[in-house]
Amino acid sequence: MTLTEKLIDKEKQVSAHNYSPLPVVMSRANGVWMYDVEGKKYLDMLSAYSAVSHGHCHPRMVKVLHEQSQKLCLSSRAFYTEVLGPFLEKLCSVSKMDQALPMNSGAEAVETAIKGARRWGYQIKRIPENLAEIIVCERNFHGRTSGIISFSSEPSYKKGFGPFMPGFKTIPYSDAKALKEAITPNTCAFLVEPVQGEGGLYVPSLGWLKEVEKICRENRVLLIVDEIQSGLGRTGKWFASNYEDIQPDGMTIGKALGGGVFPISALVGKKELMDVFTPGSHGSTWGGNALAAAVGLEALTILEEEHLIERSAKLGIHLLNRLKGLKSPLIKEVRGIGLWAGVEIDPQKARARTICEMLVKRGVLSKETHETVIRFAPPLVIEQSEIEWGIEQLVWVLENYKPENS
Ligand SMILES: *Cc1c(COP(=O)(O)O)cnc(C)c1O
Repeated sequence: MTLTEKLIDKEKQVSAHNYSPLPVVMSRANGVWMYDVEGKKYLDMLSAYSAVSHGHCHPRMVKVLHEQSQKLCLSSRAFYTEVLGPFLEKLCSVSKMDQALPMNSGAEAVETAIKGARRWGYQIKRIPENLAEIIVCERNFHGRTSGIISFSSEPSYKKGFGPFMPGFKTIPYSDAKALKEAITPNTCAFLVEPVQGEGGLYVPSLGWLKEVEKICRENRVLLIVDEIQSGLGRTGKWFASNYEDIQPDGMTIGKALGGGVFPISALVGKKELMDVFTPGSHGSTWGGNALAAAVGLEALTILEEEHLIERSAKLGIHLLNRLKGLKSPLIKEVRGIGLWAGVEIDPQKARARTICEMLVKRGVLSKETHETVIRFAPPLVIEQSEIEWGIEQLVWVLENYKPENS
């Protein structure tokens, strides 16, 4: 047995099987490169689903984590800290929001948004008690809590986990007419991803979000955008919703907010929404802890000072053009925006999972989603030559793919 086999065997014995990892055991990482326990090197084109947008172990992230950890990590929100205010001020400034409520995971930020929207519905819009409705989209991904999976349209996320939470209505993505028709006097919010990542990288038609904003305003419905994966430069703007110049009422942020070193998330919003939270109504022991706040502030500062968002826009065009130019019969469609691309594989001809496994053997990390889409989301610090090298490996795999590999 090799060391890799031994470690995989061990993890399989003691870890619940809620993932099916690619057969490689990681040991360390730096920038866009990861190294397995055998010393083999891989180009990371997944970035932990965009949580490692700054690149692995960014020196400034490691430094702030180290320094803050020696000073103050956790005080609980029973006290003020010197770092939380400056962090949330920066977060509100880049998202153009009034206030923030810090949590840890993305799913917690979404749960916070759901609670806030419902309470706003009862207290401000005067929806009768317990009748508030939230509209969501087909193919959505907002996390894995029992509340959030209640409105997922993916059967594998839900099977065996009922009964589900009521109060959600599902409409097709990128369909303004469906939104208009779904709204009732009891609708408190429309919760939507400006680009659907986990769902398979769907970029909505331009103008749709602007129209959504107008429909929400006219009907007094909150517009809450989930920018956990699409935000913080991934699409080539601070937030994907910036492409439409809209002003949402609430926004969830996570993943890259932790700079690849520590989990941090937040709901940011307009005062009218955030004001519904009163002492005792919501909280989290670790939410907004001093270590997270210092890390989050540095993560935002680095995006700005290292021009990573402009980089994502520029290199993203290159990545997308290169992928769209690939002439492989296995590819059905290429979609994307910024440094975020999905290559849809024709399921009649190949398995996306097998292609990902072959890519790993060639030293490129990516991950299939929904069985047919290969997603590329490299750290924003990637160089054009490294993208080129990754594409070359993909070309090799597409040319050498044999159905018997599956
Ligand atoms: C990843 C993700 C979440 C959930 O975040 P976790 O940190 O995994 O809980 C929610 N919404 C979107 C759009 C995501 O991509």
